[in-house]
Amino acid sequence: MSHADDRPYWDAKLETQSRQDWDRLKLALLKQHLAHAYARSPYYRSAFDAAKAHPDQINTLDDIRRFPFIDKRVLRDRQFAVPPFGDLTAVPERDIVYISASSGSTGVPTASPFTARDFDDWIDYEARQFWSSGMRPHDRYAHSLNMSLFIGGPCVLGAQKLGALSIHAGTLPSERLLGILKQFQATVIWTTPSYAWYLGETAVKEGYDLRKDLSVKRIFVAGEPGGSIPETRTRIEDLWGAAVYDYYGLSDIFGSCAGMCEEKDGLHWAEDHILIEVLDQVTGLPVKPGERGEMVLTTLKKSARPMVRFRTGDIVSYNPAPCKCGRTALRLDGIHGRLDDMLIIKGVNLFPSDVEAVARQDHELTGEYRLIVDRVNHLDRLTVEVEKVRGYNGHDHDLAHRFVRKLKSVTGVSADVIVLPPDTLPRATHKAKRVEDRRTGVWG
Ligand SMILES: [Zn+2]
Repeated sequence: MSHADDRPYWDAKLETQSRQDWDRLKLALLKQHLAHAYARSPYYRSAFDAAKAHPDQINTLDDIRRFPFIDKRVLRDRQFAVPPFGDLTAVPERDIVYISASSGSTGVPTASPFTARDFDDWIDYEARQFWSSGMRPHDRYAHSLNMSLFIGGPCVLGAQKLGALSIHAGTLPSERLLGILKQFQATVIWTTPSYAWYLGETAVKEGYDLRKDLSVKRIFVAGEPGGSIPETRTRIEDLWGAAVYDYYGLSDIFGSCAGMCEEKDGLHWAEDHILIEVLDQVTGLPVKPGERGEMVLTTLKKSARPMVRFRTGDIVSYNPAPCKCGRTALRLDGIHGRLDDMLIIKGVNLFPSDVEAVARQDHELTGEYRLIVDRVNHLDRLTVEVEKVRGYNGHDHDLAHRFVRKLKSVTGVSADVIVLPPDTLPRATHKAKRVEDRRTGVWG
């Protein structure tokens, strides 16, 4: 397939089809995929039987709710029981050509297998997504994600398929990466939001003029909520003089499952590959557009290891309205955080990303922050450490007061705020650790 640079879509027919056509397509794929899982995966056969659910019962997309959930623990346990890939796998090993592995927080990686066709589907999807974010064959793309087992690596092939010059940079020390960006005048990079910020700050400290010495026009980010927090995105954009696009990926399925188009108004979902449910954490029922819930995913094509109702632990909200870009795939408004990261402060749910939005809004703060939660006299106490910018010559308590008021109005949570000098908080390289929970026994 060849694509002229001025074509707006990678696959116009698919990307701009009506919502009814999307639903028809998804339903047809879902029936086939569940039948494949049931016929070929010992795990799914017994799990569906136990739940008295059968692929023949799928008449509408809502019928997915008859089927049982899986989660990270199931993946780990089944992989341990039936090494090396687990019995959710639905093809013989000779058909598997690639595995990615997810790091998780508990040590042993879980492997996500791909057949050759799964892999090609994925790379074509990446090309489609990159195209929607404005990447074109004339671009020079420096892939700055970890290239090893982890799922970000092969996404670079999507840029190659699209026709862009692709530089497999990986995770290099910042000074070397900046050298490469300069030498080859890369126009697009992909990294985490924390690292985009860190790399930009490092460049400035090293004497680069980001607008003159480098040519980066687009930065794709993933791996943390920051890319969907407008305040964070704007600050990275101002620092670099480049547009920032948020992406969402999941090691257990696909490199990226959703990404921002040039409108940057939500992340278009890969609806022809993955069925998304957003469920209320208490009732388990689907939430309305705009409301927050846990994202539960079912693959529609990935044949090596189908994923049926995988609970991601990610809290999202979505928007099914058509986008200004003409694409009709539903959009995630954002990834608000992970259930694991959610803090409950005096009964109020708080995500670090909510605090980040406030910290990045105030231009007399550097935007770095850290949350410390402890318990005093049996009550939760939240302390937020922030940094003032270099050259700020007002009073620290004015900054602190402003922050406390804003945070309270946005989140309903009261906090103590400590204003620190610039460059005091540890800078994140790839994923920032921003929460210190000193309460004991909170999570049992
Ligand atoms: Zn769009």
